[in-house]
Parts: sequence; structure tokens; C-alpha cells
Amino acid sequence: MTRKMKKKLEMVPIATEQTLKKFKRLVKQAAGCRLCPALADQPAIFSSANGNLNAKIIFVAEAPGRFGAGLTGIPFHGDKSGDNFETLLKHICLTRAEVFITNAALCNPLENGNNRRPKASEIKNCSPFLKETLNLINPQIVVTLGSVGLQALNLILETRYQLKENVAKPLTTPDFILFPLYHPSPRVTNWMRPLAQQKKDFKKILRNISTDKE
Ligand code: SF4
Repeated sequence: MTRKMKKKLEMVPIATEQTLKKFKRLVKQAAGCRLCPALADQPAIFSSANGNLNAKIIFVAEAPGRFGAGLTGIPFHGDKSGDNFETLLKHICLTRAEVFITNAALCNPLENGNNRRPKASEIKNCSPFLKETLNLINPQIVVTLGSVGLQALNLILETRYQLKENVAKPLTTPDFILFPLYHPSPRVTNWMRPLAQQKKDFKKILRNISTDKE
């Protein structure tokens, strides 16, 4: 990364006391949430391990995975999707400490012990948590990873963006740039969007960060 790009990501190191207080309250609410009947036994993966409250970039993926965040409590960590995500982040010289990572559904949806896609009702139920997170962090760019993450943003923005037509395109919204990308799961990197292409997509994220907002 060039010095100019690195400067783009320099952040206030510590969140304000008020932001921290609001975040802790949100974490507590998520931990006690039982709104989705099928997910009532699953913990919400939402804590300080999700990243930096001053982040200029928020990643919104699908849901915690059984062998990833569902096990480790750290979004995109512990499974192959997490390995790929970490490779992509490293590729653009970013660390977890510089971004915030969350999901359309904060709890791990399972069917017969396997990961499943969150239902539309679960994404809708969890939408207030995502909306509040965006309000709290106020990022410059929201990168959705996969169609479910984009679906969650469409719900909040009342838009109908499709991933195929908008992949790696910066979309202007009133409060941030929306940047839809594919999910880094092996299913996607093997069949739809190879990791090499996803690396190129990730590079484009930084072009949409400006230096003038703190
Ligand atoms: S997915 Fe979200 S809305 Fe549903 S139970 Fe978990 S925290 Fe609550």
C-alpha cells in the first residue's frame, strides 16, 4: 500500500466514551435477543471482536458460520471463508483493527447441523441491529460480501440493488458509499468469483476512501 493509501485509513484510535457506551448497550441487546425462533439458542456474534468503532469501512456478510464465527466468536475467523477473507484483507494491507465486520443475521442459522442461508424474516428481524451499527460507526463505505449482505442493505436503504449488476461498483447513498462484492466462501471462490478476481475487487475498495472525514 502506498503512503497515500495508508493515510486514507488513519483513524482516531479510541472511540468516544459515548460511542462505546452505545455500542455496549447494543451488544447487550443483541446478546439477549430471541426474536428469531430458530436462532434463539445461538449466540449473537457481536462484540468488540467485530472491529473498530471508528472504522471507515464496514463489511457486512451473511451470518456467522458453524466452524467460523459460530465457534470462535470472531466474524470471518476459523473456517475457510475466514481464511479467504483474511487473505483479501491482507492483500489490501488492512487489519481487523482498522475495519468493522458484521453480518445480516447476527446468529448462526443451522439446518440439520449445517449452515443455512438466513431467512428473509431473520434478516428483517436483525435489521435494526445493523442499522444502529451503521449509525454508530458512521462509515465512509459499506462493503457487502455476498447477496445476503446486499439484501440487508437493500432493506435499510429501500433499494433493490442486485449483486451481479453492481459488483465492485461504488453506489452513492445518503450516508455512505455502498460497495457490493461477492462472498469469499469456497463455494463462491471455486465456482463464481475466483479469489484472484476478488483480490482485484478488494483493491477497488480503497479508491473510495477519502482523507477528509474523521
Ligand atoms: S439473528 Fe438477530 S434478530 Fe435474530 S435472534 Fe439473532 S440477534 Fe436476534
